[in-house]
Amino acid sequence: MKYTVITGASSGIGYETTLAFAARGKNLILAARRTEELETLKSKVADINGTLDIVIRSVDLSVSSNVHDFYDSLQNYDIETWINNAGFGNFASVGEQNLYKIESMIHLNIEALTVLSSRYVRDYADVEGTQIINISSGGGYKIIADAVTYCATKFYVSAFTEGLAQELSERGAAMQAKVLAPAATETEFAKRSLNLDSFEYIGAIPKFHTATQMAGFLLDLYDSEKVVGIVDGETYDFELRDPIFKYVARSRNSF
Ligand code: NAP
Repeated sequence: MKYTVITGASSGIGYETTLAFAARGKNLILAARRTEELETLKSKVADINGTLDIVIRSVDLSVSSNVHDFYDSLQNYDIETWINNAGFGNFASVGEQNLYKIESMIHLNIEALTVLSSRYVRDYADVEGTQIINISSGGGYKIIADAVTYCATKFYVSAFTEGLAQELSERGAAMQAKVLAPAATETEFAKRSLNLDSFEYIGAIPKFHTATQMAGFLLDLYDSEKVVGIVDGETYDFELRDPIFKYVARSRNSF
């Protein structure tokens, strides 16, 4: 049995991506902190397709030691696709940002994603049909006012994942690495980034996608041979593209 791992599956893009992969008949390993939301999602998937195996892991991935334990706990599963989606943002100027929140954001958006990607690549790079999809942002390709540190974490995600894709392709590995860069999407993201109890997208944000639309774009990226799936911040069109950052191939003879 093969499995798709989705981190941050308890709400938003991860939740809808779970339903989209379930509709494709994929067995799933779902991770997030909120167990109840994951259990509810598991029941919803069971209603759609009772033959699927759905594994739940309640874990805080902003705690470094949990990240390795989480990966270790999956040693007995054959993982076909790994989606690093868990992440959050913050809106504040650099001098005024809450450093407790920022440190946690860096642990989750950068550190956990790097450790999980590296371990998955180490174990599965040569397995045919494997993919790793990391969720960046439009803010991973341009800097947005009052979200400088969040954007910097997502520049990291974009650069790391594009670089990984080039590295895998250079060495003829079977695994494909891809990066999804959503623009505004209706999820719990705004509420968490702004430290609000609730947030209404309609009326506050001129354009946005629904999480269901974004999960559809993620599937388009999954089905394609392209490395980047990015939403144009002006038109809100979704585009599948080759890597955007310049990559300097290492000459193997020069070392
Ligand atoms: P969301 O609804 O807030 O979902 C975030 C998910 O991450 C939740 O399932 C949350 O679950 C999980 N998560 C948060 N902290 C965690 C932690 N410490 N450990 C484990 N899981 C954790 O927001 P979303 O928009 O779907 O976000 C998904 C990804 O899209 C993020 O990487 C975000 O940066 C990116 N993105 C979003 C937008 C947007 O406008 N929505 C735009 C560009 C990029 P628990 O709280 O249960 O742990």
